[in-house]
Amino acid sequence: MKIDLLTDPAGMVPYCTDWRGRFTGQPIAIAFPKSTAEVHAVVRACRAHRIPIVTQGGNTGLSGGATPDSSASQLLLNLSKLNHIRSIDLENATITVEAGATLEQVQQQAKARGLLFPVDLTARGSATIGGLLATNAGGTAVIRYGNARRQCLGLEVVTASGEIWSGLRGLRKDNTGYDLRDLYIGSEGTLGVITAAVLALEPAPKGLCTAWVEVETISKAIALLQETKQQLGSLLTAFELMSPTALAPVLEYFPEQAGPLRNERFSKNTPLQSGPYFVLIESSSQVSQAHAQEGLEQSLAKGLEQELVLDASTAQSLAQAESFWHLREQITMAAAEDGPQIKLDVALPISRIDDFCKEMSQALEQALPGVRLSNFGHLGDGNLHFNLAAPKEWLTGLPRIERHAKAKGFVEEHEPSLRRLVHDAVMSRGGSISAEHGLGQLRRDEAAHYKSPVELALMRSIKQALDPMGLFNPGKVL
Ligand SMILES: Cc1cc2nc3c(=O)[nH]c(=O)nc-3n(C[C@H](O)[C@H](O)[C@H](O)COP(=O)(O)OP(=O)(O)OC[C@H]3O[C@@H](n4cnc5c(N)ncnc54)[C@H](O)[C@@H]3O)c2cc1C
Repeated sequence: MKIDLLTDPAGMVPYCTDWRGRFTGQPIAIAFPKSTAEVHAVVRACRAHRIPIVTQGGNTGLSGGATPDSSASQLLLNLSKLNHIRSIDLENATITVEAGATLEQVQQQAKARGLLFPVDLTARGSATIGGLLATNAGGTAVIRYGNARRQCLGLEVVTASGEIWSGLRGLRKDNTGYDLRDLYIGSEGTLGVITAAVLALEPAPKGLCTAWVEVETISKAIALLQETKQQLGSLLTAFELMSPTALAPVLEYFPEQAGPLRNERFSKNTPLQSGPYFVLIESSSQVSQAHAQEGLEQSLAKGLEQELVLDASTAQSLAQAESFWHLREQITMAAAEDGPQIKLDVALPISRIDDFCKEMSQALEQALPGVRLSNFGHLGDGNLHFNLAAPKEWLTGLPRIERHAKAKGFVEEHEPSLRRLVHDAVMSRGGSISAEHGLGQLRRDEAAHYKSPVELALMRSIKQALDPMGLFNPGKVL
């Protein structure tokens, strides 16, 4: 068995920094297994020599989970070559895929058969099924289909004890003791290596309608969410909130992507500062295009009548719908262009979001005048990407390299106090400090700060039971 191995330091560089450029490490080598047997062999060799393993899929994770430390003693196990579609069972509506297959690959396989793999996120071209499951990724369709966990029926895992667990069952019911599958999902590479999965597929919708909506305040967006849920029921497939400050960098750095904001009110010269907020709503129907469209239009008409909506347009073509989505998806890219930010990924009971946002906008301004709150995300799931950027005047006029250095300095100096301010407010409302991006190394200590001793002890017992040598992704999660 000859396993592809990379040891040349220059060749390893592209794999050693996380997507955001926040964490950089240096592994001893990078292994690229092409089969479960090869993963198995690597794990056994690492156990024999006590070499820690950091598993990596597409390296699009946003918490530094797939980046090795800088000790040059960890093996980076990159699964991008373990990427075959093993089988599709149309009657059972399942697909069995290897862990390194990308999300887009699986979506296309499903589409070619008139089916849908409903997990979706901007990094679809690179993010792998193993990474999606290891982080229990969410994305834009959770409100209708749930997160990655809900679409996974079975797993194959190379365990930390060096065995292969074949749990590739395509069952929707299986109550036979502890749910091992659920334990590996969301474990961020700390318990073993996911090598393959059975995923559930859904019927592809016959009609899809996307609307771009302006609302005055977050509380009106929340009221619109309730109204839309009532009206659309299971037709509602996405409800995304965007603050003006989240969209402003898109207009600044990628003005050609302005899509629905390409009008006089939102020209580059009048950057969005304070309201309105924007909501992207999607409905989909198993009946027809007209059904999806009429349902959403009726619901928006009600929203206008109740003065929840300032303005709304529904996409009249696929291209227009794509331009709405594109604008939403460019937020993360434009923020990266602006420079490093303090990245927060919080979940709250939907009923607490409005008072949380009100309290935070005052508290943050008091803590650091001019700090920019880029607030956007999956409002329908109670999940906000609550990112904090350096005051605009700190960065204005600086060339890119200096702007990024200044923004990095802002993160280094203010992250501990501002993050704690926001997270305290989240936790006091029964929220979570990581809705969908996981803990990795970015939020490990924050999680330890907020979790109860009982919860931490249970998590440590699981880690000890499944990975007693502590070889899997040390320094992450726990
Ligand atoms: C532009 C952009 C948008 C994004 N949008 C979203 C979003 O809307 N919702 C969301 O939830 N996430 C989002 N993400 C985050 C990211 O895409 C997801 O977390 C994705 O699931 C990571 O997949 P990956 O293959 O890149 O994993 P990696 O980054 O390579 O790894 C992530 C973690 O999983 C572990 N891991 C990877 N593969 C395996 C495996 N086979 N077995 C065991 N452990 C493994 C790693 O050790 C690491 O801890 C976004 C990222 C980007 C860059």
